[in-house]
Amino acid sequence: MPGFEIFGDEERKQVGDVLDTGVLFRYGFDQARKGHWKARTFEAELSERIGAKYCHLCSSGTAALSIALASCGVGAGDEVIVPPFTFIATIEAVLTAGAVPVFSEIDETLCLDPEAIEKVITPRTKAVLPVHMCGAMARIDEIKDFCDKKGLILIEDACQAIGATLNGKALGTFGQMGCFSFDPVKTITCGEGGAVITDDKELYTAADNFADHGHDHTGNDRGLEGHPVLGTNFRISELNAAVGLAQLRKLDFMLEKQRANKKVLKDALSHPDLKSTKIAFRKIPDEKGDSATFLSFLMPDESRARKVAADLGKAGVDSCFYWYDNNWHYVRNWDHLKKLKSSAMLPVKLLDYCPDYGKVKLPQSDGIMGRTISTLIKLSWSEEELTQRIEKMIDVIKKIG
Ligand SMILES: *Cc1c(COP(=O)(O)O)cnc(C)c1O
Repeated sequence: MPGFEIFGDEERKQVGDVLDTGVLFRYGFDQARKGHWKARTFEAELSERIGAKYCHLCSSGTAALSIALASCGVGAGDEVIVPPFTFIATIEAVLTAGAVPVFSEIDETLCLDPEAIEKVITPRTKAVLPVHMCGAMARIDEIKDFCDKKGLILIEDACQAIGATLNGKALGTFGQMGCFSFDPVKTITCGEGGAVITDDKELYTAADNFADHGHDHTGNDRGLEGHPVLGTNFRISELNAAVGLAQLRKLDFMLEKQRANKKVLKDALSHPDLKSTKIAFRKIPDEKGDSATFLSFLMPDESRARKVAADLGKAGVDSCFYWYDNNWHYVRNWDHLKKLKSSAMLPVKLLDYCPDYGKVKLPQSDGIMGRTISTLIKLSWSEEELTQRIEKMIDVIKKIG
């Protein structure tokens, strides 16, 4: 998955351009920057590549989520429906907006189950925030239909899924706004960075203003710019944007390579020898649109999944994840969230209806996550490494079945 595997002269050249001018700020300095507008160029190229009208590049994926929530008017008093399997950043962004995350079940796509959402809707529900986990899509078309019907805002956390599509339409373009992350371990990286995309000019303008202290970015004198909204600083630097620009231009190469590596691995694990183990794969609504950053498979029960995960580790198969026990990605181990009601830090403390997250019950998600193991798909695997990996994985899985 990670673009850092293939840093090269392209990144060096882009960063060099910025250092040569000394202009690290993304706005202004028109003369001194000698025509280099890295953030702006990145935004234009990403919009074009994804098929969204507007893009705003910012300092992180978490910032992108905060910007999207603020731009869509989600804040204090609102509830936002989220999946329990994500990176904690999704939840943080909702809480720091002053809103309340409400968990809803995932299905075997490992993403929000569109059929379960209805059960957690209340009069306070303002938005649905599905996460396209591990490079592939939620049933986002069904989630979108549901949101449209109910008049709910849809914001997509596509931080892990840049370049993925459902029926040819890019993830991130189904909702009012889509969010990407370019942190150091994402498909493409800026070092740190993120982006929001939208087709709505007003939402874009709100995002652009909010991410830079509310500046409206008109005219040539920053000190005389208007401040239509109160904002904060979620700006990207030109250095980070420069790295990202070189990486973005490699996206299609990366996707091709990941898809090829994933296919070899998945075909191998579909071998008749493993049939008796009842191994199954994550459901992917559109296999062709998968960005193929991970291969996820499900064992028939939790104890077997746990054993496979442990034995893969012992056999030296690196970059495998048993998310159910992971402290970052599944609600079960988010102890800080369970203590939130007694935490002084977050705005949600102000609200009388902050749920007790220690009492959240998600049996369907537990059942799925308890059985799921994922392996990262690397760009840099040699044929030999991939073959060895396959042999070891088949060995481990066969033994447990
Ligand atoms: C990485 C990630 C984020 C946050 O991105 P940062 O750039 O690290 O802030 C948000 N959501 C998901 C699903 C992620 O994987």
